[in-house]
Amino acid sequence: MRIGKVLITAEQIDAKLAEMGAAITEDYRDKDVLLVGILKGAFVVMADLARHIDLPVELDFMAVASYGSATKSSGVVRILKDLDQEITGRHVLLVEDIVDTGLTLQYLLKNLQVRKPASLSLAALVIKDGIDRAPLEIKYEGFHIPPVFVVGYGLDFEGKYRNLPYIAVVEDTE
Ligand code: 5GP
Repeated sequence: MRIGKVLITAEQIDAKLAEMGAAITEDYRDKDVLLVGILKGAFVVMADLARHIDLPVELDFMAVASYGSATKSSGVVRILKDLDQEITGRHVLLVEDIVDTGLTLQYLLKNLQVRKPASLSLAALVIKDGIDRAPLEIKYEGFHIPPVFVVGYGLDFEGKYRNLPYIAVVEDTE
C-alpha cells in the first residue's frame, strides 16, 4: 500500500481538538465527566483531546473488535476490554476516532445506556459523509471527509500507521 494525499494535517487536528475541548470544558463545567475512549484507534485523539479540556476529567477505555473484513464494519461488535469502572449516574462522553457506518457506536451506546449513566454523549474526530447510516447524535464533531479509507492519527491499515501525526488516504491497498 501507499500513503496518498494528506486530508487533515497535524495542525488542523490540533486546532479542531482545541475547539472541541473548549466546548466540552464549557458544557461539563459543573459536572464530573468520564471520558471513554474506544481502543485501539481512539488512543491518540483521547490523549490530545483530554489535554484541551480544562476540567479534572477521568479517563477509561473500552476495546472492541468488529466482525467483518478489515475495511468494512459488520455491526457485530465483540467487547475485548470493558470499562474498569461503573458508569451508573456518571456523565459519560464517548470518544471515537472515526464514524463510518456508525454501527460500532450504535452498539456501544446501547450497551452503555443499559448501565444508566446520568448522560451519554459522543465526540468523534472524523465523520465520513455520503454513508447511509442510522441517525447518530454526535455532540462534538471534528472533520467531515468523503467515504474513503484513511490512516494515521490512531487509524490503522493492517495494524500499522496509527502513529502518523496526520490523516491521509490509502492508495494501492495491494
Ligand atoms: P463503523 O462501525 O462506524 O463503520 O466503524 C468504526 C470503526 O471502523 C472505527 O472506529 C475504525 O476503527 C474503523 N474504521 C472506519 N473507517 C475507517 C477508515 O477509514 N480507516 C481506518 N483505519 N479505520 C476505519
